[in-house]
Amino acid sequence: MDRLCIHTATTRPLSLDLALEVYAEAGVTGITVWRDALAGRDPQTAGRRIASAGLAPVSLCRGGFFVSPEEAVRKRAILDNETALREAAEIGAPLVVLVCGADTAVPLPAARDQIAAGIQSLLPLAEDLNVKLAIEPLHPMYADTRSAVNTMRSANDLCERIAHPMVGVAVDVYHLWWDPELESEIARCGDRVLAFHVCDWRSPTRDLLTDRGLMGEGCIPIRRIRSWVEATGFDGFIEVEIFSTEYWAQDQRSYVDRIVSAYREHV
Ligand code: ZN
Repeated sequence: MDRLCIHTATTRPLSLDLALEVYAEAGVTGITVWRDALAGRDPQTAGRRIASAGLAPVSLCRGGFFVSPEEAVRKRAILDNETALREAAEIGAPLVVLVCGADTAVPLPAARDQIAAGIQSLLPLAEDLNVKLAIEPLHPMYADTRSAVNTMRSANDLCERIAHPMVGVAVDVYHLWWDPELESEIARCGDRVLAFHVCDWRSPTRDLLTDRGLMGEGCIPIRRIRSWVEATGFDGFIEVEIFSTEYWAQDQRSYVDRIVSAYREHV
């Protein structure tokens, strides 16, 4: 339990304050804060609340979306990412997770160039604030509009191209479990693995965004992938990130208890 973290998006109906209360009661020790949970709030105050609830702020989700055919849009994205870095620092989180972006008007290789340039422009501020950036490769079903980085290999290539100690990778089993190169590419990532996200892949999946399963409900070999991640030396939080209209409609306290049981049994 000392490594269990829940994303606020997992319990989306709960306000940040209520999430803190429910997580702490269930024995959860980490929280990853989605930016919508901070909307209209002072991040520093939110950070103090997180600390006084006894939870560790694990990361801020999410920055990114660096890709656009229009330069003005790309510039706005950089500004927004700078805001995300400051918010992360203010809540005490050491990491911003990046959904890197994609646009059907930009070919994927050019999109990766824009992503590299976007991340590079954030490095001075990331260093100043001591907040790292985690590239999260997304499942290829999102390569049209969400991310041009779709495998661990692609994320590793991008890391090596940027070659900066503030940049690493968030490994999410939902996006990566199918990849025949996953074990070797996690090993290649090494100490650049900055985060580990878990849930399960329901079969059939009824919605491409909001039908993730609780760990144990699907076909992802979570324990095996965890062993590969930990073989790199990673000993950070294991983050439960489940987007599910089905679970959001249920009582969130008992849902968090189910998350804790699923974590114990299947992760
Ligand atoms: Zn994730």
